[in-house]
Amino acid sequence: MTAEQPTVVLATHNAKKLIELRRVMAAAAPGVRVLGLADVAPYPEPAETESTFAGNAILKATACTAATGLPALADDSGIEVDVLNRMPGVRSARWAGPEGDDAANNALLLRQLADVPDERRTARFRCAMAFVRPGAEPVVREGTMEGAVVTEPAGRGGFGYDPLFRPAGETVTTAELSPERKDQMSHRGKAVREIVPVVVEAMTGEHSEGQA
Ligand code: IMP
Repeated sequence: MTAEQPTVVLATHNAKKLIELRRVMAAAAPGVRVLGLADVAPYPEPAETESTFAGNAILKATACTAATGLPALADDSGIEVDVLNRMPGVRSARWAGPEGDDAANNALLLRQLADVPDERRTARFRCAMAFVRPGAEPVVREGTMEGAVVTEPAGRGGFGYDPLFRPAGETVTTAELSPERKDQMSHRGKAVREIVPVVVEAMTGEHSEGQA
């Protein structure tokens, strides 16, 4: 590890997201170092006050770049339920209260959809990934996964609303899929695969300039 090594910070405390991004970046750009928030000096993280996933992702990445001086990646994600006018949306983590309680969120969503017939239970997961560098415009890439909210929770994998979400064309929920299968089709997997080439191009460009 050298001082000149191109480095990007993933602005998340979520260890699973960091592992996933490190895996993808290691394959796409072995010379790029990926740090998590545990690897940088603590700074005040912004409240997620924007009304869009992209807006919140940019807020988080911008705060990280401002604090660290390093290029930063941040994501924001959630579930949009059509019959609820695409809510919970950006409020997905806090749908049933401020503490981000998955079980309470899922129970509330099931109650809200109690009388809704199968054909009107359509929903999607959405993820925005923002890449911010000092002195450059933010770049955002999004991924979605279409599906429906089931009537009974099923499966123990994943997190959040996974036990309630059945992707289009599947017979099981995302909590019943292997992590690899979920990555292939998920909103987050798609957004990561879209943003990585942007990051690699920006970082390797910086690297060669730095060495010139
Ligand atoms: P965040 O983007 O990590 O803050 O996640 C926002 C919230 O959206 C999570 O707490 C979950 O409730 C929900 N969510 C986002 N992505 C997923 C997913 O892949 N499966 C299940 N729930 C998700």
